[in-house]
Amino acid sequence: MMRKKPNPLETRVYKYKNKNRNFFCPLCRTERNVTVNPRLTKKNIVQISLTTVMLGSLLFPVFGPESFFVFFLIWGFFELAIRSDYKKQISCPHCGFDATLYKRDVKVARQKVTDFWAQKNQANPSISEIPASRS
Ligand SMILES: [Zn+2]
Repeated sequence: MMRKKPNPLETRVYKYKNKNRNFFCPLCRTERNVTVNPRLTKKNIVQISLTTVMLGSLLFPVFGPESFFVFFLIWGFFELAIRSDYKKQISCPHCGFDATLYKRDVKVARQKVTDFWAQKNQANPSISEIPASRS
């Protein structure tokens, strides 16, 4: 069986400088890359520690040693921020495909792609085909 040549919807894609990984959009075959790792990096841990020390020493006169429990709050905040950033990057800007959503709920992901194309068609009526129908 011959392997199909990749036929991306968009070939001139913006490439991030510190890209974390490269992949091809499974729906429209556009080359994608993301900079954000969904997990905390060493740099993030340093940032969390520094913020904890700063906030902790600010709160220390009021709450005493317990003020350093703020570490868990900051940690949670970082986790949330990184995850939402990652999610934003993972969804394809060219076809609306969201891999993280697809893993969780295929129906919702499909609906999202449909909505994306409905919106795109409204803006530019000359594009009337969903890329999946080309294969
Ligand atoms: Zn795509």
